[in-house]
Amino acid sequence: MIISFSQIVTESRQMRREGKPFVIAGPCSAESEEQVVETVRQLASTGRVKLIRAGIWKPRTRPNSFEGMGEPALYWLKKAGRQFQLPVAVEVANASHVEAALRAEIDVVWIGARTTVNPFSVQEIADALKGTEIPVMIKNPVNPDLQLWLGAAERISNAGITSIAAIHRGFSSFSHSVYRNEPMWEIPIAFRLAMPDIPMFCDPSHISGKRELLSLVAQRAMDMGMEGLMIETHPSPDLAWSDARQQILPQSLGILLEGLVIRQEMEGSEAIDRDELLELRSKIDDIDERIIDLIAARMEVSRAIGVYKKEHGLSIFQLERWMEILRTRKSRGAHLNLSTEFLDRYLEQIHSESIAHQTRIMNPGKNDGEILW
Ligand code: PEP
Ligand code: MN
Repeated sequence: MIISFSQIVTESRQMRREGKPFVIAGPCSAESEEQVVETVRQLASTGRVKLIRAGIWKPRTRPNSFEGMGEPALYWLKKAGRQFQLPVAVEVANASHVEAALRAEIDVVWIGARTTVNPFSVQEIADALKGTEIPVMIKNPVNPDLQLWLGAAERISNAGITSIAAIHRGFSSFSHSVYRNEPMWEIPIAFRLAMPDIPMFCDPSHISGKRELLSLVAQRAMDMGMEGLMIETHPSPDLAWSDARQQILPQSLGILLEGLVIRQEMEGSEAIDRDELLELRSKIDDIDERIIDLIAARMEVSRAIGVYKKEHGLSIFQLERWMEILRTRKSRGAHLNLSTEFLDRYLEQIHSESIAHQTRIMNPGKNDGEILW
């Protein structure tokens, strides 16, 4: 059963119009033949799942955790897929995984987040895939590095694989947040800009880390125009041997999917009043132009200040002035409905660009103004 992602893209766009995203589901890990068959049986009965997933070799962050059932589980999965006429996918992390998956006639493989970070491993997988036509899904690397993600897609594509999809599963961070992995939606968007022909699915399970957040993240993914969803499901989620907190019953997946609002993409959507949208967009174009002109004007003043500081032997960075800028701008922004988080990021960017301009004035020809703090 060969499935092709270009076919999936066409199909998933049609499905979106019908309010039904492309869904990949299955347990985090295959634990026993009974668990695999039961999960696939229940998922098949929802009528909403197009591809079954299960982890066979589990890349665990810490040792002494369940590391997967290994090769025999490939055959449980394939057999269950055949029984319910659904293609099946597993994670591969090295050449021997690829060879075992191909021997078991697995339909799709995916590269996990901990593997995408390592070009040696990705190349090893790419080499093992040469000469096959198996579709490959590539999760984003655990760290927020777009180039590694794109590089992995290029390596797989250079190996002759034509059916490639990307999976956004969020990015790990040291700080605690409501998410297990920060979504950083701008990164999958940048991936799609760079490789528009590769469909992008979202994995709300690994972003959320807990089932309470799943539908929120799944809805956001749909609003961001993702082609589909990968969601972990288990017949007894609380008893799962890995990722228990984020897995849901196949039946709950059905309910979650029913609750999603699938808004239409522009093409093919008749409900949109285009004139009104065009008018609003032209306002945005106008405002963006003014913002850029103003930023350029601000930098010009900043350079003049740089000249003054140089002539008077003053250092570029002035803590008190910076604190005053932060305080006054944030208080103004707060009154205008701008979030503190956004203002922090914006002011920091503006400030470091100003400093770069002044650094060039202070040290002409010495560097390109890169700030190293
Ligand atoms: C998984 O899909 O179970 C998995 C290990 O995911 P990730 O590579 O996104 O951590
Ligand atoms: Mn998992």
